[in-house]
Amino acid sequence: MRYTLKTKFSLAIAMVVLLTVAVISFLTNYLFEEQFGAYMKRQQDQKTQAIAASLSQQYSIHTDTWNVESIHTIGMSALYEGYIIKVFDQRNRILWDAQAHDMSLCTDIMEDISIRMENKYPEINGDFTTKTLQLDNGSAAVGSVKVIYFGPFFLNESDFQFLDNFNTVLGGIALFSLLFSVLVGVLLAKRISTPILKTVDAAKQISDGDYSVRILERPGSSEVDMLMHSINDLAESLQKQEVLRKQLTADVAHELRTPIAIVQAQTEAMLDGVWAPTAVRLQSCHDEITRMGKLVNDLENLAKADADNLKLKKTEFNFLELVDDVITRHEADIKQRNLKIKVDGHETRLYADWDRMSQVVINLLANAVKYSEDGGEIGITILETQHSVVFAIQDNGIGIPEEEQPLIFERFYRSDKSRARKTGGSGIGLAIVKSIVEAHGGKVSVKSQVNQGSCFEVVLPKVPKP
Ligand code: ADP
Repeated sequence: MRYTLKTKFSLAIAMVVLLTVAVISFLTNYLFEEQFGAYMKRQQDQKTQAIAASLSQQYSIHTDTWNVESIHTIGMSALYEGYIIKVFDQRNRILWDAQAHDMSLCTDIMEDISIRMENKYPEINGDFTTKTLQLDNGSAAVGSVKVIYFGPFFLNESDFQFLDNFNTVLGGIALFSLLFSVLVGVLLAKRISTPILKTVDAAKQISDGDYSVRILERPGSSEVDMLMHSINDLAESLQKQEVLRKQLTADVAHELRTPIAIVQAQTEAMLDGVWAPTAVRLQSCHDEITRMGKLVNDLENLAKADADNLKLKKTEFNFLELVDDVITRHEADIKQRNLKIKVDGHETRLYADWDRMSQVVINLLANAVKYSEDGGEIGITILETQHSVVFAIQDNGIGIPEEEQPLIFERFYRSDKSRARKTGGSGIGLAIVKSIVEAHGGKVSVKSQVNQGSCFEVVLPKVPKP
């Protein structure tokens, strides 16, 4: 059986409190009984001494007489407290005897005490004991007193009352703490379980495909707060992915529609015999099919760049060497366009994925070549700062309008569609660059002016080789 957090929490707290109260009650009672017995015995001794002392004062040395009236008062008050006394003078004659004075009262009081003590403390095996104390006037003995009381100790009416009250208070405290702890447990569990239940609800909605859900609750504990944040982040990134997926599908469909329509129309016309399949027309069909092939290739590269985000094959290498390698591979293109290329930089160690970084440099260099006028200049700079490696590629080509600069890193964005079609671009190259650079924890940015040229800058953090 699965219990809710609320039940578990309340039960746990109640159990802890119950245990604590039980231990405290046990210890209190144990210590109390232990100490109380010894204390009461001391009290009894002091009391009998006090009775003897006040009786001694009733003797007058001048007249050699006793104040029997006062002795009676002392005797009665002692009787009510549980002490039966018998007072003798010097010559052992009885001066006052509680039992002789009121036998039935004495019996009542003593019976009362013995019944109560036997009920409450059967283990002490108490019984009536007799103690004789000397009465003296400071220098000589003037008489004696015989005290009968319940030993080894006894509790009178008010002592019992005190103990009863004490136990009632203890019980009250236990009951109150128990109720209070259950209440606190319920409230605390509610505070924890409410946001968790909301999170569960949100997670359910997300799994049902509703990515717009967000948890707005502000929970008290940081763990639940983190959980909520994670769920919110999850919903947000799923929502972004969903938008990207839809956009990508629409873009791909749009990109493929034009070449397919062209090829379809041309081949149909040729099949119907409307057009003769001349070399020029076949070449045009071939160009469109090549474009589609390139697009599929680019898409493949993009998918790879995204998928590889998590598994970069990093090695340590000289970044300048990578740049030189890419330039060598593009030499034919550069020469054909009569472009001048200048590399400024020295050996720079970088811990990154060689193949992916090559792709970045290839795409940026290909763009610089593509969007430069024949005979233009391309400058490459490699810089090393304390925490990063900066790679910049500058051309003096056609440039990018300012309002389009933030958009060119998006998939399928081409600043001038007709021009891009001519240059064979599909608008994926910079999206791949961005993906790879970000996977390395870096940033790519552009500064450009129309007809002046563009400068793309890649900043990569220096990651030490593990
Ligand atoms: P494409 O395959 O179209 O070049 P990219 O993603 O590489 O796709 O570039 C997106 C757009 O950014 C290009 O269509 C182009 O308009 C613009 N662009 C990129 N690089 C440059 C550059 N060096 N000079 C001018 N425009 C550029």
